[in-house]
Amino acid sequence: MGYSINEEYAIEQDKKDELSRFKDEFYIKDNWYYMDGNSLGLLSKKAERSLLTSLEDWKQFGIDGWMDGKEPWFYYSEKLGKMTSPLIGSNEKETIVTGSITTNLHQMLSTFYQPEGKRTKILADELTFPSDIYAVKSQLELKGYDPGNDLVQVKSRDGLTLREEDIIDAMTNDIALILLPSVLYRSGQLLDMKLLTEEAHKRGIVIGFDLAHSIGAIPHQLHEWNVDFAVWCNYKYLNSGPGGVGGLFVHENHLGRKPGLAGWFGSKKEKQFDMEHTLTHSDTAGAFQIGTPHIFSLAPLLGSLEIFEEAGIENVRTKSLRLTAYLMNLIEDSLSEYGFTISNPQEDYRRGGHVCLQHEEAARICKALKQNGVIPDFRAPNVIRLAPVALYTSYQDVWKTVRILKDIMEEEQYKQFEKGRNVVA
Ligand SMILES: *Cc1c(COP(=O)(O)O)cnc(C)c1O
Repeated sequence: MGYSINEEYAIEQDKKDELSRFKDEFYIKDNWYYMDGNSLGLLSKKAERSLLTSLEDWKQFGIDGWMDGKEPWFYYSEKLGKMTSPLIGSNEKETIVTGSITTNLHQMLSTFYQPEGKRTKILADELTFPSDIYAVKSQLELKGYDPGNDLVQVKSRDGLTLREEDIIDAMTNDIALILLPSVLYRSGQLLDMKLLTEEAHKRGIVIGFDLAHSIGAIPHQLHEWNVDFAVWCNYKYLNSGPGGVGGLFVHENHLGRKPGLAGWFGSKKEKQFDMEHTLTHSDTAGAFQIGTPHIFSLAPLLGSLEIFEEAGIENVRTKSLRLTAYLMNLIEDSLSEYGFTISNPQEDYRRGGHVCLQHEEAARICKALKQNGVIPDFRAPNVIRLAPVALYTSYQDVWKTVRILKDIMEEEQYKQFEKGRNVVA
């Protein structure tokens, strides 16, 4: 059955979908069309169970939970790092679950930003997430540089996307380090990480990526591409819960390097409790941990990663591309008269996991969507992001979302809401 605008087509696609069974793994209310898994993924039964396991370990073992629990807390970050490896194409030593994006960025910048001679600048882009820029600016200042001069932000030609050639042109011989997103948080553009890494290395520049909007949605080959470092959170596509502990990758070529920000959890495991005042840091990515892991914010990730092991990231990507393509087709075919612009790149190889819809009434339309059970998110001033997450969104959910959006526009339902965003958007 070829693509059609009818609901039957969606139902047919769901029947053929090999990932459809995973939807039952998640807590999803009736008549709830959750399109915001790129901001906060949903709770799965497996994640709930792994969190309860750690609570039970605390109940049963007290302090001995560190070594004797069902999931010993002392090795939990390393275990989860190993389970994350297939999602990013790393070997297990290169990967650790720790910190948050922003704290991990501070760790990576304090380790890898080593200005020397003429090479003093950090290259980023003007569309990136604010926290990443705040971290870069403060690291420049800590090393005695001036963000006004030493932070270079590649310009966007259209306010939404970046051109790889513009980024490469900005890789001049005064750049010490490059930090870029894998997928841009607003437009959903996927950058060519392999190409950018090759070009950076040709020029002797260290390069790292923020994988917030690609991990759990898109496969990566960080080791093979020779990416120097990467950071991510686990609460978006990886469904580990609000504020869930993040992760970082350091390429094997750099393991053994002294962490910029040291703490006792960066120790070699067998040395940590020697309590010496000289740190013997781990020779894995574990060296870049700082303090005691936040166990209850780590534990749900175990269950969540088990789901990814079963589903396979390649299958997740294939379905995600189909869902976003289907969503774009439906929007074009049934909403053409209402002034929406699809502003994410259309090609598969340049598209992340969400659709970026622009509309001058975006803020009010988002409020109307929520009232109708569709959960989008709004990015000021005029973007509606819709992420049909492969593990728990059906084709029929996408169909219903567009149906609801059409009703909102036809009946001008959005006009009953106040303009502007809520405090949390
Ligand atoms: C979500 C997100 C963050 C959030 O950082 P935290 O330290 O986890 O709060 C940072 N950068 C990007 C690109 C993001 O998408």
